[in-house]
Amino acid sequence: MNWDEKIERGLQDRQRTDAYRRRMAIVDGNQRFLAYQGRRYLNFSSNDYLGLARDPRVVEAWRQGAVRHGVGSGGSGHVTGYSLVHQALEHRLADWLGYERALLFSSGYAANQGIIGALAAEGDRILADKLSHASLLEAAILSPAHLRRFAHNDAASLARLARRDASGHLLVITEGVFSMDGDCAPLRALTDVASVAGGWLLVDDAHGFGVVGDQGRGSAWQQGCHPELLVVTFGKAAGVGGAAVLCTAPVAEYLLQYARHLIYSTALPPAQVYAIDAAVSAIIQGDALREQLRRNIARFRAGVISLGYTPGSPTSAIQPLLIGDNLLALAVTERLRERGCWLTAIRPPTVPPGSARLRITLTAAHQSADIDVLLEALNAARHLA
Ligand SMILES: *Cc1c(COP(=O)(O)O)cnc(C)c1O
Repeated sequence: MNWDEKIERGLQDRQRTDAYRRRMAIVDGNQRFLAYQGRRYLNFSSNDYLGLARDPRVVEAWRQGAVRHGVGSGGSGHVTGYSLVHQALEHRLADWLGYERALLFSSGYAANQGIIGALAAEGDRILADKLSHASLLEAAILSPAHLRRFAHNDAASLARLARRDASGHLLVITEGVFSMDGDCAPLRALTDVASVAGGWLLVDDAHGFGVVGDQGRGSAWQQGCHPELLVVTFGKAAGVGGAAVLCTAPVAEYLLQYARHLIYSTALPPAQVYAIDAAVSAIIQGDALREQLRRNIARFRAGVISLGYTPGSPTSAIQPLLIGDNLLALAVTERLRERGCWLTAIRPPTVPPGSARLRITLTAAHQSADIDVLLEALNAARHLA
């Protein structure tokens, strides 16, 4: 099979299973209304849970940062890319979240690759929740450590696997709030199992950070847990982009030696760090935004329950509606678009086969009338599903 045939076959594979992905060039995808091909839609697809991507405080901070420091960082953090601006944000994050150290990464994907790649060696074990994000599972698969997946949010399943073979260092991996299901990991139980087994827990809180816990400190804080490694990302509730890992001082030093994504990749632009810093301030002062989000979640859940759907977690901005069949999920999405609601059908391989779903995200930027429009559209599409 030559290259051309390989590409052709790969594309046909995706077409045959109705899993072919197409990007759409959207205008204002980070706002309450987005536009596509000249039409306006209510946006129920964005991860900008607090509406900070357009917050004037955050936008102004980025502008100020660019005026003062230019637009690029100029190099890896190990050369000239790490500045006082980066250092100040790392200190602030560590203090606020209760860790000795924080290290900035250019994305959550890079953070997970860098951390897991640096820590997991030959003979070590990784036990990951089977629904963990692709960036976590991929890093675990690529590492020389032995990967097993435990049943979703099931500490007993984790405990069984942890007991089975006690050799090597053990790294337990989970998300705080799961990106496709919106449910929360039982972090206390997972912490207990990990620590009894002498292992460390890595929590990727991409979807809990900013949204849950006092001041938006996230899932671990909310559940009174202190995982050895906490990943927070700034592309979701913070509305910007980038990520950080929170850890002890020795682990931070270790990562600075061995995490290749820190060593061989250009550091975040300082202006972006300004924006992240302003977003963190907005998150800390964000009780009113979180309250608005909670009201939207409650209104949506009450509505879909009365339509006969089973909604997601009561605290999560991510509300999946399980459809099952890929084509049906696309048909429902299409019907909702006709009624002015934009949301995404999530299909395998992002989710397990037969569990295609509508991934509805609610944000603080939605008004209660927006939720009602969505419920009305779901009601109209109900005969399809
Ligand atoms: C979005 C996401 C990431 C990736 O973060 P980026 O900053 O977008 O690269 C990692 N983990 C989880 C759970 C995510 O949802």
